[in-house]
Amino acid sequence: MHEFSITMNVLNIVEENAMELNAEIVHEIEMDVGELSGVDYDALNFAMQHTKKSELLEHANLVINRIPAKARCKACKHEFDIKDYYTACPDCNHFDHDIIQGKELRVKAIKID
Ligand SMILES: [Zn+2]
Repeated sequence: MHEFSITMNVLNIVEENAMELNAEIVHEIEMDVGELSGVDYDALNFAMQHTKKSELLEHANLVINRIPAKARCKACKHEFDIKDYYTACPDCNHFDHDIIQGKELRVKAIKID
């Protein structure tokens, strides 16, 4: 489950930022996680709950923004929702497309005091 290593990275990033801002406590960690990021949302929540955290982070609540996946057809430029990389364009059935949204995996914001 690679969500544990992602969680470790996220907690390190958040801790560094929180310390730079002289935070005493982190209340919330908000993340953007795309449907095509390869991250399992439940596994990420589980990993976050079961990773040992510093005092600064132990009460932080994880909020995940699920970003739906979208692609743009290279043939006709139509934009459409996709569930995986192998979805054909609904307009022209072309398989060649650019992913324009859904691969996000980032910390968007933190709430601190
Ligand atoms: Zn198309």
